[in-house]
Amino acid sequence: MSLPALARGEAPSVPFLDLDPALGGGLREAILADVGRLLESHAYTNGPQVSAFERAFAHFVGTRACVGVASGLDALRLALIAAGIERGDEVIVPASTFVATLEAVTQAGGRPVVVDVTEADYNMDVAAAGAAVGRRTRFLLPVHLYGQLADLRGLDAVADPAGLGIVEDACQAHGARRDGLVAGGAGLAAAFSFYPGKNLGAMGDAGALVTDDAGLAERVRALREHGQRAKYRHEHEGWTSRLDTVQAVVLLRKLPLLDGWNEQRRAAARLYAQGLAGLGDLRLPPVPAGSEPVWHLYVVRTSRRDDLAAFLAEQRIGTGLHYPVPPHLSPAYSGLGYGKGAFPVAEALSEELLSLPMFPGISETQVEAVVDAVAEFFRRG
Ligand SMILES: *Cc1c(COP(=O)(O)O)cnc(C)c1O
Repeated sequence: MSLPALARGEAPSVPFLDLDPALGGGLREAILADVGRLLESHAYTNGPQVSAFERAFAHFVGTRACVGVASGLDALRLALIAAGIERGDEVIVPASTFVATLEAVTQAGGRPVVVDVTEADYNMDVAAAGAAVGRRTRFLLPVHLYGQLADLRGLDAVADPAGLGIVEDACQAHGARRDGLVAGGAGLAAAFSFYPGKNLGAMGDAGALVTDDAGLAERVRALREHGQRAKYRHEHEGWTSRLDTVQAVVLLRKLPLLDGWNEQRRAAARLYAQGLAGLGDLRLPPVPAGSEPVWHLYVVRTSRRDDLAAFLAEQRIGTGLHYPVPPHLSPAYSGLGYGKGAFPVAEALSEELLSLPMFPGISETQVEAVVDAVAEFFRRG
């Protein structure tokens, strides 16, 4: 699959993220028509499109059940609660992640136990996870960061003998595969986010939990709606955390396009890998054998990250930092008691990674403009 080529001319400005191209090909009109019909049915919550999307997304991942919720964070938090987490239970999380991974654990009453990530895939280090298992450990919570699966087979070999559940944070990995496994299909349950910039994005906040465990799915269905299984029968305290019908309408239209969008991300990643090889101290994102990432982000690594970002900004090329402060060094989690130096790989990544423009519909010309600008930066020394 190749990318749309633009006419050659002056170097284009390249935004870090552009959500416009993906709305082409009639998608914008189709969504508007569906939303117009929703304004006639007024089925704003629990509309039939919600269960239709749940069925379609369960099919996409290959799980028995999917429960739509209000955000990726809610999917993670409700997964842990429905899986029976108890106050003070320990959940092993990677040191390099978006902060929501830790929020889910603490808000579910658990205690995050942070372990470092590995240079091999920037995800949870299997050996470190194994070493962190203790008497109170209940779950491993690997994150498939930047669209690449963590080593789930390795983590399963840690979790299984210890009787731990694996809950996957698949919020950046819709459609990613590795070693015959698919994101969201290997653990006890998995959480997806449909925040607008994710590989599958809604028109606002939305998320989903997937699982093969019908009982767990039923508990989350109750928890997302005031703890009720039938109207006004409240068995447990719950939340208002439904997937809005309008978001389900958007997601239903977009899901059939997701594989094609992921292919466009892969094509852009291939061009980046070809064009950026061997420049200065620049390191490309690691991809272990057997891994098929979906490139939610394309992160390059250099000791001169901040200078490179500033140079690219001058060339009208947008970049992002994911993430400049690892959760364990954020004031929000100072209570966990980890200091600087606790997780050297994650801390180095937070200082050295730069996210380059990556989105479905990014043109070959745009990728080449980024490659040329990065090459120019290193040429100038
Ligand atoms: C986006 C994201 C979340 C949370 O998703 P929201 O929908 O914003 O709540 C959790 N974990 C990771 C790794 C994410 O990227």
